[in-house]
Amino acid sequence: MVKRKIKVLLINLIVFILCAKNIPVQAINVILVEPSANFYEATMKRDILCLMIAYQGYITDIERTKEGFVYIIMKSGKRIIYDDKKVKEIKEKVQNPDLQDMMEQVYPLFNITKLMPSDFNPGRIRVYDFFNEVYGGSEQQVVSNLTNVKIGYKSHLFNSNNKASEALQSATQELIPVTEKSSFIYSFVFPISGTFNYRTIHGTDRLSAHAYGIAIDLAYDKNDYWNWTSRKEGEKRLALYPKEIIRIFEKNNFIWGGKWGLFDILHFEYRPELILKSRYFENQSYDIKKWYSGMPLDNAVVEDYIRLIEEKLN
Ligand SMILES: [Zn+2]
Repeated sequence: MVKRKIKVLLINLIVFILCAKNIPVQAINVILVEPSANFYEATMKRDILCLMIAYQGYITDIERTKEGFVYIIMKSGKRIIYDDKKVKEIKEKVQNPDLQDMMEQVYPLFNITKLMPSDFNPGRIRVYDFFNEVYGGSEQQVVSNLTNVKIGYKSHLFNSNNKASEALQSATQELIPVTEKSSFIYSFVFPISGTFNYRTIHGTDRLSAHAYGIAIDLAYDKNDYWNWTSRKEGEKRLALYPKEIIRIFEKNNFIWGGKWGLFDILHFEYRPELILKSRYFENQSYDIKKWYSGMPLDNAVVEDYIRLIEEKLN
């Protein structure tokens, strides 16, 4: 089972590299050499480190049980499993994910001109137990964490926990001058379609990222969402979408729904763990012995996290 997991991880890594080099993903039909279990362990440590840095103060400890299951321990004492070790199809991963499923597909920070394959959706898998702990476990709790962020002339509600509203504010400060210079870019941003909305994802019983107040929909177009339009029309809209908007949001730790195979082009979501994983770990050759290579090691907080991970998972 672990071998299969490793294989899935390796396939994702290859898809990522192929996309980065603009090689068709179909070229994936290569013979895979089975890597060692060290690859799995190193990936787990990297995923947990990204989560700890991205959600500073929310994860206080790590535990490996006698049975070999790894948990992160939240500030409240709640334990959240890293890998349930079940073999799951994609649908089940979305429905019943663990943290490993959530972190598995690496968000691409490079420019794309074509839609991603429909099963490539980094960020669409969300562990609700985790987001409940960080942003609020009920509508009432989420609402109590909301604050107003001014974008242009209007204010929009966003979650103030884990610096989400600060990140939106910072993205806005950079974005507004750009929209003032270009009416073309302005038309992709305004009118803003919405931020906080306590609702489920259309056609599912799962909460949307909007329910936590960590997502923003910019100006609406009928070809923005995979379920409203054809891939052909979606791809046309994607090709037009201003790179500057994407760059500014990604710089501020938002992922873009346009980089999902099941595209959601007007949607930006605050997911610092995924941006971190992509930024620090995926643009360099893999070093299993030094699983944390690439991280900023002059940072005392990061060093403490690495020490904790080494202590608890070795
Ligand atoms: Zn949205």
